[in-house]
Amino acid sequence: MNNSKNVLRYMFGSGAISNLSTILNNIESDSEYVIYYIDEYFKNSSVLDFLPIKNIDEIFFVQTQSEPETSNIDHFRDILISKNKNKPKAIIAIGGGCTLDTGKAIANLLTNSGNAEDYQGWDLVKNPGIYKIGIPTISGTGAEASRTCVMINPKNGLKLGMNSDFTIYDQLILDPNLTKSVPRNQYFYTGMDTYLHCIESLNGSYRNSIGDAFSHQAISLCREVFLSDDDMMSDKNREKLMVASYLGGCAIANSFVGIVHPFSAGLSVVLGTHHCVGNCITMNAMEEFYPQEFKEFILMGKKQGIEIPQGIAMDLDESFYKKLYDSTIIHEKPLSNALGANFKNILTYEKVKEIFKKM
Ligand code: NAD
Ligand code: ZN
Repeated sequence: MNNSKNVLRYMFGSGAISNLSTILNNIESDSEYVIYYIDEYFKNSSVLDFLPIKNIDEIFFVQTQSEPETSNIDHFRDILISKNKNKPKAIIAIGGGCTLDTGKAIANLLTNSGNAEDYQGWDLVKNPGIYKIGIPTISGTGAEASRTCVMINPKNGLKLGMNSDFTIYDQLILDPNLTKSVPRNQYFYTGMDTYLHCIESLNGSYRNSIGDAFSHQAISLCREVFLSDDDMMSDKNREKLMVASYLGGCAIANSFVGIVHPFSAGLSVVLGTHHCVGNCITMNAMEEFYPQEFKEFILMGKKQGIEIPQGIAMDLDESFYKKLYDSTIIHEKPLSNALGANFKNILTYEKVKEIFKKM
């Protein structure tokens, strides 16, 4: 039975980011400096003016062109060691899933020996990480609340995080003002990640009542946002989606995803497709497995006027389909959650190829 942990503290509301300095002052530590990981989008943004940055602090801008790789995390750790800045008072990550996951992974790696790839898996992290504060700037992945930090290891094609209670943020600042500038398509793709996590887990066999309750509430908020007659990015709707994302992240701690995420991970590892758009591309081929949700997903996209890329895996060389099959079918936990222990009898090579061709 799961002994579940959630984020210790969160502060929610428009303008909440202005409380960062108070939060930092309340942390007891022998160190004075903090390390910031900030989505590169904010490099020249006025958001930086709200941060209590001091000369002794270090700021790193995180690229989001490609999703975090284990070697990026090792590299960030090595820079901190070379600067003798590897025992900060706190790590603060400000951005989307890529940046939030980067902050989590580095906080763990600074207090645990070895490299990031050594901790890809379940409960491998031995020591608590550095105190960490997450400040999401886009809603949907639930990375702010979950106990993992997804990383790709190109050496073995593994896309897997450090699933550990130590990976959970100590403090969140949930400020819906920060999501105003997200491009509309991206807002939809990332927001849908919450919806998909929750419908996948509610359709699975590995369930528990608390996880289900988080999922139901997150889905209901997603419906309010994406089927809303108001703009999906209105002040009220951005607030709702931020709550949905947080609840969706809490739900993942108590559940597994299903079929969409393994296929999306295949796209990501083999074709470099980003997680959230990859989920939406996959969902277009999921009518057979999730008929009701498929209909609702199409309706939400239409209502918001969102384009989902099509045809990206329609006409590939056989070698690509083999790689796509391998990197999809490797995700045994979610696939058996959705289809049972004999999922490989349903998802044969031909079947998997047929599904990818529909994308
Ligand atoms: P992201 O970090 O990939 O960013 C997506 C894009 O949005 C980037 O171009 C970024 O610069 C931009 N952006 C972010 N905030 C913005 C803002 N306020 N204004 C303008 N642009 C903004 O975003 P994501 O979709 O949240 O994260 C995807 C990542 O999250 C993937 O790496 C995925 O594997 C990971 N993920 C993690 C978990 C988890 O539990 N840890 C769960 C699901 C996904
Ligand atoms: Zn996801």
